[in-house]
Amino acid sequence: VLELQQVRCAFGDHVVLDGIDLAVARHEVVALIGASGSGKSTLLRTANLLEHIDDGRILLTGEDVSDPRVDADRVRARIGAVFQQYNLFPHLNVLDNVTLAMRLVHRVPKGEAERRGRELLATIGLEAKAGAFPDTLSGGQQQRVAIVRAIASEPELLLLDEITSALDPELVGEVLALVRTLKAQGATIVMATHEMPFARDVADRVVFLDGGRIVEEGPAREFFRSPREERTKAFLARVL
Ligand code: ATP
Ligand code: MG
Repeated sequence: VLELQQVRCAFGDHVVLDGIDLAVARHEVVALIGASGSGKSTLLRTANLLEHIDDGRILLTGEDVSDPRVDADRVRARIGAVFQQYNLFPHLNVLDNVTLAMRLVHRVPKGEAERRGRELLATIGLEAKAGAFPDTLSGGQQQRVAIVRAIASEPELLLLDEITSALDPELVGEVLALVRTLKAQGATIVMATHEMPFARDVADRVVFLDGGRIVEEGPAREFFRSPREERTKAFLARVL
């Protein structure tokens, strides 16, 4: 679904992504881990065409979307993205947040978008909050709304960047449970996370970034059980 080939991204002379090769298959869940500043968010942003790349290519379902002639909005319409915080439009109620892209980007008629929106809210137990404004929801509820909004248009790929790190610990579980459900439904997900147990249990594959390079990657359980590289071992020793 997603393929990064030798992707390089620098800010001035600071190289943030240094030749990233990563291919994500359909229905695969990939966790990006690594220290702060290792390039996880930048990688997700380049995949969503929110960041320039200086070299390399990005393919979305076989199409070279890093070609400058490509319409970035059209590409982003095929990708769902959720970030750490500030995902919802504060001036729109929950249902309008969920249906906005369906209606404006994908031209789904209002009635149909709202029916689908309510259906999605029901799957996360928040149908009763359809008319509520985001600031009246808990952080966990807001993130779950942001996630169902991201999947409302049935994206080819879902990018999740530290979606639980702004949450109180007791709210993390409900958001992670939703990601598990999406995986069970066959979503293709690339997620940056510092929740190692979650990466181990939910991801098919773990990719460890250090200094903008992929140092090591592998099937999640194997990766955590027997990391090969010294840098990976040192990182895991710090965070586990
Ligand atoms: P964290 O775990 O803290 O979220 P990260 O792995 O997501 O870290 P990035 O946000 O991708 O790291 O940042 C990687 C590096 O790129 C950092 O050193 C950061 O300062 C730098 N960087 C990111 N965006 C910019 C920018 N717009 N301009 C300059 N430097 C940037
Ligand atoms: Mg980040």
